Amino acid sequence: MTPVETFRGKRVALFGLGGSGMATAAALKAGGAEVIVWDDSEKAVEKARAAGFEADDLKLINWQAISALVLAPGVPLTHPVPHWSVELAKKAKVEVIGDVELYCRERKRLAKDAPFIAITGTNGKSTTTALIAHILRQAGRDVQMGGNIGTPILALAPPAEGRIHVIEMSSYQIDLTPTLNPSIGILLNLSPDHIDRHGTMEHYAGVKARLVKLADTAIIGVDDHYCEAIAVRGDHSGKPIVRISLNEMLGAGIHVRGREIFAWRGHGRKLADLTGIGSLRGDHNAQNAAAAVAACLRIGLDEATIQAGLKSFPGLAHRMEQVGRVGKALLINDSKATNADSTEKALLSFENGIFWILGGKPKEGGITPLAPYFGRIAKAYLIGAASDAFAATLEGKVPYERSGTLDIAIASAARDAENAKFAEPVILLSPSCASFDQFPNFEVRGQRFRELAEKLPGYVTH
Ligand code: ADP
Repeated sequence: MTPVETFRGKRVALFGLGGSGMATAAALKAGGAEVIVWDDSEKAVEKARAAGFEADDLKLINWQAISALVLAPGVPLTHPVPHWSVELAKKAKVEVIGDVELYCRERKRLAKDAPFIAITGTNGKSTTTALIAHILRQAGRDVQMGGNIGTPILALAPPAEGRIHVIEMSSYQIDLTPTLNPSIGILLNLSPDHIDRHGTMEHYAGVKARLVKLADTAIIGVDDHYCEAIAVRGDHSGKPIVRISLNEMLGAGIHVRGREIFAWRGHGRKLADLTGIGSLRGDHNAQNAAAAVAACLRIGLDEATIQAGLKSFPGLAHRMEQVGRVGKALLINDSKATNADSTEKALLSFENGIFWILGGKPKEGGITPLAPYFGRIAKAYLIGAASDAFAATLEGKVPYERSGTLDIAIASAARDAENAKFAEPVILLSPSCASFDQFPNFEVRGQRFRELAEKLPGYVTH
């Protein structure tokens, strides 16, 4: 845990008692602050009281005695409307901050030069965060990984000289971190998403830009025009900016060509090669890997060490996760793909021979946007509530069967793949749907796929 000492002896209000809220309350208390917690859920309040926290309705407290309102990242700061606790804090001129801000203040106090790598973007945050942490750990570095992925930041070990914090940040967390100053800030990409929480794309991009604005080194994926504009603005700040691109690039930066990653200063020195790395398939993962390479170089790792770390990266569960083989076929669990955009990345990662298991609770637009990739699909296996709608889209274009459930789908796909002419067929669970019609969440769906895969005759792990 990182005890928060900067509020010792002061009263702090905290709203939002999920995992990170509880960890933050504990860190503030451990550092000697008087914390008053609250939540809209009575159950959460009871749980906090049982854990020994002082819980009080923040509508009824004396705000003049409060030094800060700490907000959990899920609670609206600005859009669609500020949460009532934010309004009360503003009226009393009390600052509103989040857990990463508390970490930044502790870092400043304890080890201001300790490496702090912060990662954001619309997509690829978790993969890039986990990849950087993995490479650094493999290199023997002292790494603390968390934030928006896994462990809440204040539940991690405190900042210390030589200890590297690798922290995934959502835009909500950035919004609550006014003094965010990572030693390395990574902005992977930007596309319209979560606009409901940020009003407009411009506001959303503005929030994300803050992660790189005050970074000692900024690493920016410049393949979308929002990020490109942020990089151009950053050029004028005089801070080092490392551009990442999969397209043709001018000037200095890191360039991905096919599976290879180059330093781009005119001479194109090769830095890393993703060929044959199953956990980093697809162009999207090449973007993530290039950002990770840039960050690890900046930390001071050599290229051979980085390459070894890339090669041994196990990948993240449920994101194009290779769960083994059956006969000559690869088994891929992409259960996290709950919409067509994510499934597109999976379909783009395999040229042909895809035995595609899809379906569940359909999202608006269905799989129509995936039509350009239908040629890659050998056969589709439909499960869950979306079956009728998806069958209509596939009709006459892709052979399909209505499997109904995952167990039947995977058995049929394994049989068909075995008899197919492809050298390396792929049995891909990439549902393009929410899971709720048949599973509690995407994790359970992916776990079920893995269990069923392991039971297939002839299954091997690699
Ligand atoms: P996040 O943490 O930002 O949600 P993840 O690393 O968990 O991202 O990846 C989630 C999904 O987003 C992946 O399964 C893939 O479909 C897609 N994705 C990952 N990286 C990228 C990227 N660099 N660009 C576009 N899409 C990506």
